[in-house]
Amino acid sequence: MKVRTRVAPSPTGDPHVGTAYMALFSYCHARKHGGEFILRIEDTDLERSDAQYETNIYDGLEWLGLTVDEGPNEGGDYGSYRQSERIKAGVYDDMAKKLLDSGHAYYCFLTPEDIEKEKASAIKKGIPYVHSRRSSDMSEEELNDALASGKPYAIRFKMMSDREITFKDLVRGDISFDCSLLSDFVLVKSDGTPSYNFAVVVDDAAMAITHVIRGEDHISNMPRQLAIYEALSLQAPQFGHLPMIL
Ligand code: GLU
Repeated sequence: MKVRTRVAPSPTGDPHVGTAYMALFSYCHARKHGGEFILRIEDTDLERSDAQYETNIYDGLEWLGLTVDEGPNEGGDYGSYRQSERIKAGVYDDMAKKLLDSGHAYYCFLTPEDIEKEKASAIKKGIPYVHSRRSSDMSEEELNDALASGKPYAIRFKMMSDREITFKDLVRGDISFDCSLLSDFVLVKSDGTPSYNFAVVVDDAAMAITHVIRGEDHISNMPRQLAIYEALSLQAPQFGHLPMIL
């Protein structure tokens, strides 16, 4: 299998040295194995993303000599390489529908205030907060009524709470997570845009990424991302989480 690595910055500010650092490892790994190095622009935050920041990312990578093989400017067989364009193409909606149909996801009509109340109650009881999953057992009629009334909703992933999820990190070895401590998490926000955890899985799989090399601040996202890979029967790439530059 051809090695394919990527760097996936969000164009919401000046390029970060941490992005360049992860890009360097991703680039070298791809070059060492005769593979491809991909740039994906994660601009799902439509308000904070700016084309100028994307230009700065390109300028920075070029200045560092980290030549991109596939990306928004280069094109490639796995485009589009901008998440905003993939949103318009309905890529994430299709996958969310699959997860709804298979029962791995549900419409959640809880308001931020409802969730705050749940959190306050957990604190009062001295137990870790885990989302109540209250909206998931609506009857079909209740659900259709709620959808027809235009009530805002998010689509949440139903976390398998009776499991441990383990993966072998290329840097740190085996890492396990107790899923009973993890809440059902948002796949699609109430404004219709995908969450980071959802979009990154859909895109890494669609772009046939073989190795994800990124900062260790993303280790805590692993159980959520691996659960989505599993629910969609997608092959997960290998992961290596590197220490952050502080
Ligand atoms: N857009 C994410 C970030 O900049 C990408 C993280 C990842 O590599 O999965 O943190």
